[in-house]
Amino acid sequence: MKYEELLERAMKKIPKDINRGERFNPPAVESFIEGNRTIVTNLHALANYLNRDLNHIVKFLAKELAAPGNVDGKRVIFIGKFPNKVINEKVQLYIKQYVRCKECGSPDTKFEKEDRILMLHCMACQARYPVPKVK
Ligand SMILES: [Zn+2]
Repeated sequence: MKYEELLERAMKKIPKDINRGERFNPPAVESFIEGNRTIVTNLHALANYLNRDLNHIVKFLAKELAAPGNVDGKRVIFIGKFPNKVINEKVQLYIKQYVRCKECGSPDTKFEKEDRILMLHCMACQARYPVPKVK
């Protein structure tokens, strides 16, 4: 089979609702610096939107920022001064690694545990693959 034919066949397999990604619009993270701590005020909303465990996101950010992070009621506090832009960049990285399907780019995914391995399962294309553990 020719490359063009293969390509055409592959294109036909792409689900019609591939455009759903355009509706994906997670809230920007809001934060401010207080003393030498950084307070993030809406990570709960982001976690909800992304359908991810807040603690997983906090753990990821703490690792990326190399700073301890704690959930304090509705706020999340990181020790250290981090500009809002930096935190939002880390959130984008989180979305890339732990939310968007690496096969089709859909954000419509969920975590599944298989033995002790964390798997990302894509609802759009049914891809399923392990994601790195946040240490
Ligand atoms: Zn997918």
